[in-house]
Amino acid sequence: MIRQRTLNRAIHCGGIGLHSGKKIDLTLHPAADDSGIVFVRSDVGVEIPARSEFVTDTRLCTTIGRDGVTVSTVEHLLSALAGLGVDNARIEVSGAEVPIMDGSAAPFVFLIQCAGVREQQQPKKVMRIMRKVSVEDGDKRCSLMPAKGFRISYLLDYDHPLLNNRYVSIDFSRQAYTREVSRARTFGFLHEVEALQKMGLALGGSLENAIGLDAYRVVNEGGLRYRDECVRHKILDTLGDLSLAGMPIVGAFDGVRTGHACNHRLVSRLLSQPESWKVETLARAPEEAATADGLAPRLAGG
Ligand SMILES: [Zn+2]
Repeated sequence: MIRQRTLNRAIHCGGIGLHSGKKIDLTLHPAADDSGIVFVRSDVGVEIPARSEFVTDTRLCTTIGRDGVTVSTVEHLLSALAGLGVDNARIEVSGAEVPIMDGSAAPFVFLIQCAGVREQQQPKKVMRIMRKVSVEDGDKRCSLMPAKGFRISYLLDYDHPLLNNRYVSIDFSRQAYTREVSRARTFGFLHEVEALQKMGLALGGSLENAIGLDAYRVVNEGGLRYRDECVRHKILDTLGDLSLAGMPIVGAFDGVRTGHACNHRLVSRLLSQPESWKVETLARAPEEAATADGLAPRLAGG
């Protein structure tokens, strides 16, 4: 039986918020079986479960909220938790967004690995896709289909030399999240970042926490971390957004130009169609586990 997982101990870091540009404290705590991932705004004492029904905004990033209190940019941290197979954790943030760190999930992976991951008592629950569910919005579309393991395939296709017709497919039962996905940074066009900053948004955005693109190329001095880093970041985001279903998915995700808004509509549609999925525990089929489960013994061993 594959069991649920949480952190071994609490761990803390600080960083700046992408939108506010302000310093934010982040502490990850272990949490009880079946409690899921829950964000806590420590400055106002409000708890917000990381589930689809609490999503309040999907422009620029994914925001969850409750009673008018929100936490933005949850997707990279959620991606790291899902990628390392963490089912239960309590996430304290001192402000309205998760720190952006370097724009990827790698700093969160490092944090979780430093805390360690341990098995709990209850079996891990997964959501097995039984019937195709899809969403279309203009030229964006995404779907979830039945499959043996868990796969995310993504086609990025914008009118830019680095973003045209770029396709990557990651099979998480065979490819490691940490190595293949977690280090991919978010990306943005310089002219768009300047426009956002004039509106008082993305104040913390810089080449320290994003890939900056002009009309032709990457402007960061160090270049890219993966040849197709932008598509891999889309896969990283997608994993975080899908985790808002409340449990790991067993199925195949296909996305074309999709982003947080489309992904959120897909998860909402999935949850509203109970005939499209069933909840299972994984008795003895680790190759079908919905995340990089093979990683856990290494993590537990430090
Ligand atoms: Zn992102």
